[in-house]
Amino acid sequence: MMVMDLRTKARLISSGTVEMPEIFRPSGPASTAGPGAGERNIFFSSDEKMVRLGVADGSPLKLEELDGGEVAILEDGVEVARGILEKPLLHCPRQAYITVCERCIYDCKFCAVPKLSGGVKSRKRVLEMVAKANDTGDLEAISLTSGVERSPEEEVDRVADIVKDLRRFGVPIGVSVTPARRSSEILKAAGADEIKYNVECLDPQLFTKVCPDVSLDRIKTALERAVGIFGENRVFSNVIIGLGESDQTLQEGIEELAGMGVLPVLRAVYPHPLRAGEVEMIRPTPERLTDLARRLKRVLDDHGLRGDVAETGCYRCTGCDLIPHRDL
Ligand code: SF4
Repeated sequence: MMVMDLRTKARLISSGTVEMPEIFRPSGPASTAGPGAGERNIFFSSDEKMVRLGVADGSPLKLEELDGGEVAILEDGVEVARGILEKPLLHCPRQAYITVCERCIYDCKFCAVPKLSGGVKSRKRVLEMVAKANDTGDLEAISLTSGVERSPEEEVDRVADIVKDLRRFGVPIGVSVTPARRSSEILKAAGADEIKYNVECLDPQLFTKVCPDVSLDRIKTALERAVGIFGENRVFSNVIIGLGESDQTLQEGIEELAGMGVLPVLRAVYPHPLRAGEVEMIRPTPERLTDLARRLKRVLDDHGLRGDVAETGCYRCTGCDLIPHRDL
């Protein structure tokens, strides 16, 4: 059987999409989280590795149904991996991963959220969604993410209020928000177990172009402070790969984050059609993804950090990235 090894997962992430027969098409709402917001996804799992792929006609990868509930992924008619489709709970398997505020006052050039300008979920709505997910018996973690409707401070208070209510489900809770004054203290006191503040781009010059309204230094300061409050292995930061950054700046930035006790999430850029032409967005090759993941693992090892202890979010899910200590 053709299992998904590291090289194959890197190939699939690099492609990012799969074409699939109508019968398999995921139903239900499209994802509202992050740069790929608005797209439909599947989760393909094989030999303890899992990958998320967007569903797209014309993708070089095709999904084919096999006997016994299995599926195969084909490239140019040749099978590259065989496995099963995992059913997402809310956004991803086994987690209720919810975007509270689907709009944002900032204008990071790779992100579809400000363009989609979606709704804002009430505390009641989030509780209902998690309760429904919990009823399936599959709920293992809750992850909340949020754009910024009016100010980062207000958003942190909104999410903290929701976190307090979600403690009743007795599963780990992770939060990904824009840092604000005392945000780590507030969210920890509310009951969050893990936190993510995204640096997005580790090249300081490029950062000012892709995230013109945000301060890289301020995010780094917030991350350092967060480790003091949440502890090592409990603080994460997304780093987008494919915006034109050099591997040298990435290496230095990864070292800096890991030196603080932060786990970087190396995320292949998603060239959302709503952002076409605004900024360079080139999906990294499988070789680059694998090389960067190996470097990241070395750096985490050097700093005594672990990629396999995360209880929430992307290090737990593993769908979009090559996760050290899980995939390699
Ligand atoms: S890795 Fe993160 S962004 Fe990707 S599907 Fe999983 S939870 Fe969502």
